[in-house]
Amino acid sequence: MLNANHYDIIIVGAGPAGISTALHLANLAPELVPRTLILEKARHPRPKLCGGGILPDAEVVLCQLGLDITEVPHVDVDWAHFDYDGQGMTMRGEKKGLFAFRVIRRHEFDAWLAAKARERGFLIHENTAVKSITATESGVVVTTDQGEYHAAVVVGADGSNSIVRRAIIPHEDLHVARLLEIVTEPKPEKSFHKQSDSFFDFVVVPQGIQGYVWDFPAVEKGKPVRVRGIYDSNVLSFKADVPLAFALDEEFGRHGLHLSDYKLEGAPIRWFDAKSDFSAPRVLLVGDAAGVDALFGEGISIALGYGGFAAQAIQDAFTKKDFSFRGYKRSILQAELGKALRRRTWMAKLFYRLRSARFQAFIWRKMGWFIEWAVRAFFIEWTRRQER
Ligand SMILES: Cc1cc2nc3c(=O)[nH]c(=O)nc-3n(C[C@H](O)[C@H](O)[C@H](O)COP(=O)(O)OP(=O)(O)OC[C@H]3O[C@@H](n4cnc5c(N)ncnc54)[C@H](O)[C@@H]3O)c2cc1C
Repeated sequence: MLNANHYDIIIVGAGPAGISTALHLANLAPELVPRTLILEKARHPRPKLCGGGILPDAEVVLCQLGLDITEVPHVDVDWAHFDYDGQGMTMRGEKKGLFAFRVIRRHEFDAWLAAKARERGFLIHENTAVKSITATESGVVVTTDQGEYHAAVVVGADGSNSIVRRAIIPHEDLHVARLLEIVTEPKPEKSFHKQSDSFFDFVVVPQGIQGYVWDFPAVEKGKPVRVRGIYDSNVLSFKADVPLAFALDEEFGRHGLHLSDYKLEGAPIRWFDAKSDFSAPRVLLVGDAAGVDALFGEGISIALGYGGFAAQAIQDAFTKKDFSFRGYKRSILQAELGKALRRRTWMAKLFYRLRSARFQAFIWRKMGWFIEWAVRAFFIEWTRRQER
């Protein structure tokens, strides 16, 4: 720290993207740790609406940071079912006996990550909401509800409604997916499917919803629950024929449940657009603030992945005394993370245009082998391709 409220780096947001940026910085440039401040508007463990599905890519990044996700309460998802109206294909880890992915609850996962950052020496000011930022040639002024801070560099890790993003890119087209989520009791004992399976059903695509309904197993306060919801990527300009809540209610009806019996909550996800900006002089964006997966709305592994690129850019900036961050966007686009994100946006725009029920049924029920190959080769497992 230089003076009170003066830091070299201020990270806005202590979610996966912000904490990953901090932890990568600690590995790359430990001397920057005491000169970094993380500002978080909530207090951990804070609620965060999320399915909590964590792909193996996230675990690879966590492992590189020396973290073991099994310290957090989680469920190993045995099989991931990708269906059209209840019938389709299944996927899991490539090696025999491996799970498909894990499900955590975000308040627990994010609090665990924040604790790891504190253990490594980072200062987190919680209950501090950033109201605006102003970047000048000499530094950035960060105005919060607790007073003013100054930094040489600000990282916008403040999620889909990012204030930092709005400050550096004031006018842009809206690129946000819409999601609704509900936590329900577990499946009945006599259920045909196993409690540990997860489901993605694309039955809503013919209704013009550019996404799917999901149903994941999870543990809440030690008890099994199901986290269910609906995802509409909104990548195409046409409107759905029915409201999202109506489509989710229909899906619930097929499973003998009523939406009105549960607490329904909604939140957006900003999706990745390669044409967009990811930085401005002295300011970097990461995670939802930068843009994540348009195809499935998968953002945790992506948020963790962005952290490595931001930390590298910050280290380079302090070494070269050049805070333009001109190379940041290129570093993301050229990496396997950026390539996977680009492909997912492209595929979402193509796939969700194909609304025919017959086509959707054919793809999920007959083309499973092809989808599994394409998903692994182009969309997920980007950490493995990056390591090569
Ligand atoms: C309903 C739903 C279900 C989802 N399911 C999945 C899933 O199953 N798997 C998956 O991989 N992804 C899922 N996602 C996406 C995933 O949640 C996000 O991509 C991920 O949280 C992005 O992490 P982040 O750190 O960028 O942002 P966030 O997790 O949103 O963290 C941002 C942090 O910044 C703080 N903040 C915000 N504004 C300010 C401010 N002004 N000042 C200070 N602090 C601020 C917030 O309190 C928060 O702690 C889902 C999203 C939704 C909405």
